[in-house]
Amino acid sequence: MSDCLFCKIARGEIPSEKVFENERILAFKDINPQAPVHILVIPKEHYDSLSALDEDSAPIVSEIALVIKRLAEEYSLGAGYRVITNIGDNGGQTVHHLHFHILGGVKLSEKMC
Ligand code: AMP
Ligand code: ZN
Repeated sequence: MSDCLFCKIARGEIPSEKVFENERILAFKDINPQAPVHILVIPKEHYDSLSALDEDSAPIVSEIALVIKRLAEEYSLGAGYRVITNIGDNGGQTVHHLHFHILGGVKLSEKMC
């Protein structure tokens, strides 16, 4: 059994503030929010990052896209928001389980990095 942090959150072994869940996907509030709305959306299945996906597993990203859209509506992010997935050390990834950040609720900087 994986001792990856987000696998543990997906299994309910570590508490999280869940905002969406289905069989394959979980979304929860980031513990250290960088914006008024900061939600993480993860596949329950472990993939190290976007780069670990293959033809069989990549469709999870389509499903996640629709969850992101739904959450953006629920959190009234119609004025805009940002979706980020960090990949690897140079990409700033600290938790090596694929996740998408939803950042919103404020006008974000146009700077990318
Ligand atoms: P990244 O740097 O892209 O790997 O993002 C990892 C994110 O996970 C960071 O924004 C952290 O604040 C967040 N994080 C770490 N531990 C937890 C936790 N237990 N619950 C919720 N978010 C977490
Ligand atoms: Zn994991």
